[in-house]
Amino acid sequence: MWRFINNCKTSTCKRNGELGVDELNFAEHLVFRLVQEESFDGIGDSRLASLNPCVDNGLIRMRTKLVLRQDTFEFRCPVILTSEHTVVKRLIWDRHVTHCHAGVQLLMSILGEHYWILGGRRAIRSLISKCVRCRRLLAAGWILQLLLCRRTG
Ligand SMILES: [Zn+2]
Repeated sequence: MWRFINNCKTSTCKRNGELGVDELNFAEHLVFRLVQEESFDGIGDSRLASLNPCVDNGLIRMRTKLVLRQDTFEFRCPVILTSEHTVVKRLIWDRHVTHCHAGVQLLMSILGEHYWILGGRRAIRSLISKCVRCRRLLAAGWILQLLLCRRTG
């Protein structure tokens, strides 16, 4: 959509083909800004008070204690999101599926590299409990254990 608008504005340098990294980063930035606008009452929101929030380029970020560490900026100052928003739920689901149905702890650390999700652990646990593939694997694990117990016992 943003490319279409830019292509309409400029007549000389029109972009086409696959989306570039800059376009994807811009779109992600825009989506997270909209999510934060819908979720929080600005930087003074009471839920953010204990997180030492700051605003960077329009996004509310958390200032961690790792500010002086030699690491990526997103890891040191992750974007604050709330787990109740649909986009964030979709984000968690996407990371769960793309990382081979990762468990709660792995998913927390994967998401924690970029985002600080309020109520994230509860949301991840709830989402995984609804995942059909994970439930099947869990059930298959129990069946395997029962079979092994019968053989050995
Ligand atoms: Zn799963």
